[in-house]
Amino acid sequence: MTLREKVGQMTQVSLESLASSRERQGSQFRFDRQALQRAVGEYAVGSVLNVADQALSASRWREVIGEIQETASQGTRLGIPVLFGIDSVHGANYTREATLFPHNLGLAACWNPDLVRRCSSIAARQTLASGIPWSFAPVLDVGRQPLWSRMVETYGEDVLLATRLGVAAVAGLQSGGRLAGCAKHFVGYSMPATGKDRTPAYIPKHVLREYFLPPFQAAIGAGVATIMVNSGEISGTPAHACKWLLNDLLRHEMGFKGVVVTDWMDVMRLHTIHRVAPTLKEAVRLAVEAGIDISMTPHRLDFCDLLIELVEEEAISQERIDQSVRRILMLKHGLGLFDNSVAGSLQDLHQEGDRKTALEAARESAVLLRNWGVLPLDAETRVLLTGPGADSLPALFGPWSYTWQGREETAFPAGLKTLRQAMAESIEERLIYRPGCGFRGAPQIEQALQGLEQADVAVCCLAERSAVEKPGDIEDLSFPRPQLQLAEALLNSGKPVILLVTAGRPRLFTEVAERAQAVLWAGYPGSAGAQALVEILLGQVSPSGRLPFTYPRSSGSLFTYDHKNSEKEDIHLGMKAFNPLFQFGQGLTYTDFEYSNLSLDRDKMKSGEEVRVSVDVKNVGGRAGTEVVQLYVSDLYASLTPPCMRLRDFRKLPLDAGEQETLTFRLTHDDLAFVHRDGNRRAEAGDFEVRIGPLSERFRLI
Ligand code: BGC
Repeated sequence: MTLREKVGQMTQVSLESLASSRERQGSQFRFDRQALQRAVGEYAVGSVLNVADQALSASRWREVIGEIQETASQGTRLGIPVLFGIDSVHGANYTREATLFPHNLGLAACWNPDLVRRCSSIAARQTLASGIPWSFAPVLDVGRQPLWSRMVETYGEDVLLATRLGVAAVAGLQSGGRLAGCAKHFVGYSMPATGKDRTPAYIPKHVLREYFLPPFQAAIGAGVATIMVNSGEISGTPAHACKWLLNDLLRHEMGFKGVVVTDWMDVMRLHTIHRVAPTLKEAVRLAVEAGIDISMTPHRLDFCDLLIELVEEEAISQERIDQSVRRILMLKHGLGLFDNSVAGSLQDLHQEGDRKTALEAARESAVLLRNWGVLPLDAETRVLLTGPGADSLPALFGPWSYTWQGREETAFPAGLKTLRQAMAESIEERLIYRPGCGFRGAPQIEQALQGLEQADVAVCCLAERSAVEKPGDIEDLSFPRPQLQLAEALLNSGKPVILLVTAGRPRLFTEVAERAQAVLWAGYPGSAGAQALVEILLGQVSPSGRLPFTYPRSSGSLFTYDHKNSEKEDIHLGMKAFNPLFQFGQGLTYTDFEYSNLSLDRDKMKSGEEVRVSVDVKNVGGRAGTEVVQLYVSDLYASLTPPCMRLRDFRKLPLDAGEQETLTFRLTHDDLAFVHRDGNRRAEAGDFEVRIGPLSERFRLI
C-alpha cells in the first residue's frame, strides 16, 4: 500500500459530507457524486459514518452503502471496502423500521443484564440488515454528573451495574461476529466539572481507575472491537492528545488490540478548541502519536494531506501508520467485508419477538418511586392525562431517535403511539386529555383544571425536551417552571395526582413530587413505551424497575449513593446532609417484600477466602412481583476515605404472592478492594458491613 492509501484507511468522513446539498435533508438521501468520488475514490477514505439528516429505510441504507462500496471497489487501486459506522445507541435508531428500546439509563433501571444482551443483539441484527457493520455503542461512561446531557446514554451512576450491563451489551452486539461494537468514550467524558458537555474533567488517576475504567476493562475482556475517545479533557490534557491514556494505559496495561476511533472533529478541536496545538498539522501529529487509528474528521480531507506530510518529514514514523492500518484492515477482514461489502441481509430485519423484547424492556425500565395507594388505577377511574409528555413521541424516545436530537416528530415512522393514543385504546371515553403545557410557552392551566373536573385522577406527564450533547446543555437542573406550575395547580385541586416522568437526567421537581400521590419515572422507554406505561398504570403489569442513579432533592445537593462520609455532614453539624429525593436502587412494585435471616458463613475472612452471604426474601403482598435484591458493602475504615457503601452484587427475583426464596451471594477479596494512590487495587484488613434491604451484618478481613 502507498502512504496515501494507508492514510486514507485512517480517515473517516460523514455521510452528510457526501450528500447532495439539495437533498441533504429529509429521508430522501442522494449522493453528491463529485464529493463521493473525491473522498472514497481519490482519497480512498476507509470509513464513512452517520446519517445525513434523518433515518432511512433499511433497503435505502443498503443502496447507499452499496454505492459507497461500488465507488471504493471501482474507483480505487486496491478496492478495499469502506467500513460504515453509525450510532445505534438504543436500537438501530437511524433505520426507520427498527425497534427502539429504552435508552441505556432506562435499561439500567431494569437491572437485567440478559435483557440488555437481547436488546443489543436485536439492535445489531437490525443495524446489519441496514448494511451497516459498525455501531458506536455501548456508551460505557459512568453517569455520575446529573447535569450532563448524556446521562441518559449511560447505565447510571454505579460502576458495578454499568460494568455488568456494558459487558452484556458488547456480548449482544457482537454475538453474530459480523458487527463491531464501540465502547465509548474512553475515558472520563461523563464527569465534566461544570456539567456541560465536552468541558474539563478533573479526575485523579486512582479515581479514574476506581470509577471510570472498569466498564472499559470489562468490555475489552468481552472482546469489544473498537473504542471511541473522550472529546473532553482530563486534568488539563485532552484525551485525544494523551499518549498515556491511549497508549500506555489502553494498549499496554488494559490490553486493547482493536481500533481506536476519535470522536467528532476531535483532532481538529485540539487546535481550534482545546488549544494544545497551534496548527492543525500539530493537532494531527499529537493525536496520531497519542494512539488514534481512525480520525472522524468528519467533513474534511486535510487530515490525509497533513498526515502524509508528517510522515514524509519523519515527524511520524511509517511503523506508527502501519500499526493503525493493520488494525483497521484486520477489523474489516474479521467482519467479512472483503467477501461481502454490504453487510447483513435485509431479510433479517424483523424477527418475531423483537417487539416483545422492546415491550419487556419498557415494562421493566419504569420505576415506581412513590405510591400512596392510587396505583394501579381501577377499572372505573376517569383519568385526566396532561403535560408535555402526554401526547408526544419525542418524549417517549429521547435523543438519537430518527434524528440526532430526536425532536422531529415528522421523522418518526407512522404507527408509533403516544401515551395518549395508547391510553385511549385502553380506557376509551374515561380518558380526558388536555395538553396543559408544552415544551415552550405558558401553561394552559385553566383548561387542564377544567378537564380535571370530569376526572377522578390526574396523570401529569412531566417531560424533558429531547436533547443530547452540546444542544442538551442546561442552565438549570429543574424541570421548566411551566411544567411545575401545571403540576402544582393540579395538586391544589385536591384530586390525586400521578406524576409520570420521561426524561434523560434527574430534572428537579421536589416541590411537586413530595405532594403527588404517585411518581413513576420512565426514562425514555422507546417503541413500546406507551403500551408499557399504560399497562403499569392500569395494573396489568407490576412495575419492577429500580433507580440507577440518585435523584437529587435540590441543585445544591448532587451526591451519588456511594458518597463519602463527610458529604453527610449537615449545617447543624449532624449527619443528615445526604437526603436525596429518591435513592439509588429504590423502586416499588404492586406487592411487598420482606427480608429476613441475613447471615454470613464466617465472621472473619482471610486472604484467598470468600464470605457466603445468604438472605431470605419473601413476597408478603397479594400479587406476584419482582424484587431486585441488592448487596452493599461498607469498608468501615480505610487508608483512603471509604465510600459509605458500594454495590457489590444484585439479583433480580420474581416471586409469586406468598413465595419465599433464599439467595446466596459470595464476597471475594476483590469485592472488598479499592484502588490505592499507586494505582493498585487491594483490600485492607479491618471491619466490613454487609447490607441487604433493611438488614446488615459485619465481618472482619484479617
Ligand atoms: C458523539 C459520539 C458519536 C459521534 C458520531 C459525536 O458527537 O460524541 O458519541 O458516536 O458523534 O455520531
